Amino acid sequence: MSFTASNDQQIAEALGDLSKLPNTMKMAATNGIEESFEPVPPPNGGDWLAQHKERGQTMESFQQTSSKAIPHGTHKTIYIQPVGSFDHPRAPPLDVIVEFAKIFFSGCVIELLPTVDFTKDMRKRDGSGGPQYLTGDFHNYLVQTRSQRDTRRELLCVAVTMADIYPGDGWNFVYGQARSTDGVGVYSFARLDPLFYRATSEEILQTPLTEEHRIILLRRCIKILLHEIGHLFGLKHCIYYVCLMNGANNETEMDRQPLYLCPVCLCKLHSTLQFDVEHLYETFANLCDEYELETECSWYQKRLEYIH
Ligand SMILES: [Zn+2]
Ligand SMILES: [Zn+2]
Repeated sequence: MSFTASNDQQIAEALGDLSKLPNTMKMAATNGIEESFEPVPPPNGGDWLAQHKERGQTMESFQQTSSKAIPHGTHKTIYIQPVGSFDHPRAPPLDVIVEFAKIFFSGCVIELLPTVDFTKDMRKRDGSGGPQYLTGDFHNYLVQTRSQRDTRRELLCVAVTMADIYPGDGWNFVYGQARSTDGVGVYSFARLDPLFYRATSEEILQTPLTEEHRIILLRRCIKILLHEIGHLFGLKHCIYYVCLMNGANNETEMDRQPLYLCPVCLCKLHSTLQFDVEHLYETFANLCDEYELETECSWYQKRLEYIH
């Protein structure tokens, strides 16, 4: 499948009419773009774009998408539902990851639910790193248990798990999968550990987390959660720039996804959440600084200079 990077005209068309945006958003979408955003590199054989045809989602097609989350009335809460044990020496800190989502999805309330166990309805198969669970059964579970949550507040519900997941026969795994029509999603931390492809699950359990791996793991966990929730807000995979919303098939692609949205995706999320981009960038930069995500902190600080 051949992929050609978008040219300036295609990107301008994808952005659409910016004239009604607040000044800071106009600047965020147009100033210093070449300095801050990279074009999508040509895909290698195993990469997402070599295997999936992505036509790109313009601002106009985003606005016409009907199955997307839009906070309304009391419905502003994104529930995060941990499934299965997180009692693992290398488990990522859910409370920290939630803090990043709180800032990114401005105006929404993010609530971490108490952990529940896998149910007998969640189908599994044997995978290389232990049992692998079917994503659709997590989606079904979240839909079926909706009445146990606060239905007046719920906007979305996303399951997170340390188990490996797959979406169906013919797939080896997925990092996460969203079901927009029901406002639910699931994502797995299993393959985010830098040791996943390099050691057995027993070896991983016995290996202390180094500082370097702690940062890599945290960064990957945050970006996958934000990416999955981004899908539930109606954002499809991005083909315009290297962006949080790029599809990822492997570790290299996942690590290339940055922790920020390109101008096209930023405008989409802004049209729904109407955030103050300057405030969002400032608070996100501060949080990155607090948790030692240095590359991300300096990216956001640099972008702020283009918005002031
Ligand atoms: Zn995706
Ligand atoms: Zn994008």
